[in-house]
Amino acid sequence: AIGPGFARPDPSEGDWLRKTHLAQGHKFTHGAALIVAGGPAQGGAARLAARAALRVGAGLVTLCPPAEALSEHALPPDALMRRAIGTGADLTGALQDPRPLALCLGPGCGIDRATALLPAALAAGRPLVLDADALTALARSPAAPLPPDCVLTPHAGEFARLFPDLAGALKEDGRSTPCLSRAEAARQAAQRIGAVLMLKGPDTVIAAPAGQVAIHSDMGLPWLATAGSGDVLAGLITGLMARGLPAFEAACLGMRLHAAAARRHGPGLIADDLIDQLPALIAAWP
Ligand code: AMP
Ligand code: MG
Repeated sequence: AIGPGFARPDPSEGDWLRKTHLAQGHKFTHGAALIVAGGPAQGGAARLAARAALRVGAGLVTLCPPAEALSEHALPPDALMRRAIGTGADLTGALQDPRPLALCLGPGCGIDRATALLPAALAAGRPLVLDADALTALARSPAAPLPPDCVLTPHAGEFARLFPDLAGALKEDGRSTPCLSRAEAARQAAQRIGAVLMLKGPDTVIAAPAGQVAIHSDMGLPWLATAGSGDVLAGLITGLMARGLPAFEAACLGMRLHAAAARRHGPGLIADDLIDQLPALIAAWP
């Protein structure tokens, strides 16, 4: 077993996804996650990430806004656990729990708070998703080693802040020398930073430090480009890692569930709709 109570998907992803609840399990053995996100007036991103992690089967998801935003995150109908995390010491305290726990840092976090929390998140050595403001914080930080099971989920702008040289080489500049493909840029970035790197966009590329690359073309799903869509994806990957999937597998499955939810819903999509598609998708997942 590689996580709280589940083995690597075998024989199929669908069987694994549907095996959410161990007969003898309780919510912690079904995978626990901390979503460290959402500042004042930025509750939407945090809520979306937390709900996505729950829907993909994590048993216990704790939403961690700063203390001053805690009451904003109490809105029904989401009966989630909440815990105020404003400083690195708060986060280190929450991570004293010896039980398996995956961590997501960034959605709606605010750059200053993400910067303050990043060292504790990296030092935790837990499965970790860095998204949104955590990526901007990482780009500003002195190079720190990332934990072994770590996924970075930049869109093009966040990627350019993290890897300006690779992003520059991606641009069409009319030269006869070939520019870097997105796949090659993601591969080099993953190798350099030592984490799984998901470069998001109409074509999403996922690269692992050891060299594996998965490419997913979402060209037919332009309605995925809507506010909160990336927050749902970060929550999906966090939930899958909480359930025990390694980083690269969690990123790949999260990406495919995300795209399938968008395809199943169709145009008119808002981010919450992606989450609402998940139960039916999981029921039929091959
Ligand atoms: P974010 O920018 O963090 O909200 O993430 C946006 C999400 O939407 C990512 O999963 C992207 O891959 C996806 N996305 C953005 N633009 C497009 C597009 N034109 N077609 C399909 N998917 C897109
Ligand atoms: Mg985003």
